[in-house]
Amino acid sequence: MSSAVESLGCRRALVLATPHQKADAEALSDRLGALSVGVFSGAVMHTPVEVTEKALKVVRDTEADCVVSLGGGSTTGLGKAIAYRTDLPQVVIPTTYAGSEVTPILGQTEGGRKTTVRNASILPEVVIYDPDLTLGLPVGMSVTSGLNAMAHAVEGLYARDRNPVSTLMALDGLRAFRDSLPVLVKSPEATEARAEALYGAWLCGTVLGTVGMALHHKICHTLGGSFDTPHAETHAVMLPHTAAFNAEAAEQELKAAAELFGGSIGGGLWDFAKSIGAPLSLKDFGLTEADLDRATNIATENPYWNPRPIDRASIRTLLQKAWEGVRPD
Ligand code: NAD
Repeated sequence: MSSAVESLGCRRALVLATPHQKADAEALSDRLGALSVGVFSGAVMHTPVEVTEKALKVVRDTEADCVVSLGGGSTTGLGKAIAYRTDLPQVVIPTTYAGSEVTPILGQTEGGRKTTVRNASILPEVVIYDPDLTLGLPVGMSVTSGLNAMAHAVEGLYARDRNPVSTLMALDGLRAFRDSLPVLVKSPEATEARAEALYGAWLCGTVLGTVGMALHHKICHTLGGSFDTPHAETHAVMLPHTAAFNAEAAEQELKAAAELFGGSIGGGLWDFAKSIGAPLSLKDFGLTEADLDRATNIATENPYWNPRPIDRASIRTLLQKAWEGVRPD
């Protein structure tokens, strides 16, 4: 760990974490010894600008020359927000499978609105994958976090700007999670399966950082941003439905992925999600059918490019199926 900080030419690392992982961050700071200027443990989901400003004050007060982000996408997001504003280098130690550590993308919220920026300064310089640090990730979060990463891969397969390498990475990322998540559900401390899942996170995150996303990410962004649904869980519920929807226009692009899940991408992903205990229904997040009408409006305004043309009626139907939690056709 010390060598990662030193490899960046840095001597004053600020360790970042969520309140939940504060003790782990303090232990890491202790291990860094003189290379650490302390811990900021206020990271929260969706990177609110107010939290970034508090962290920036600590960066200035401590004269930190790099950040070390220990945690999931929320902590990585805070490190990226600091780097975007200061150009400080980042070391990221991911403890979920969200994949943010290998993208130059920052999603942040201000005044209840979530915006996304893509910039070279946001891409972390060093990533350390250590499966032992993911052993404490609860099974439910391991499952939803893995499905969150898999959504990057599925959308990468039909991205307009995909290339042969992004397609290979996406398929191997899906395979890695297909093989590792069922093992983790039965044996959460299976280190080899944890390592395989982190490998999948790296692959799927790299796909997200390389090619454009489409309808699935737009809908999840809408539900999370406007209805405050939980991030990874929303991806988990939506993925079989958006994949089934887009398979009508991208059957060839999704063929190899469908084969990984028994032949049908939507139904196969839904069966897989169900078999590992993932949430299956938007209803369980407290959304009402009236919310679905509003979400349809938001998701169809300024839509992202999508392989299958979208219209209000088809998106409303798709959301209804995800709300009810039925298996997609
Ligand atoms: P998270 O970082 O919010 O973590 C959820 C909770 O689990 C936190 O309390 C965290 O401290 C805890 N946790 C994390 N790892 C743990 C472990 N190993 N053991 C015990 N507890 C642990 O969840 P997430 O799903 O990783 O991140 C979601 C955020 O990441 C969202 O804001 C999303 O927008 C963002 N994201 C960004 C990108 C990108 O490229 N910009 C990609 C994916 C996700």
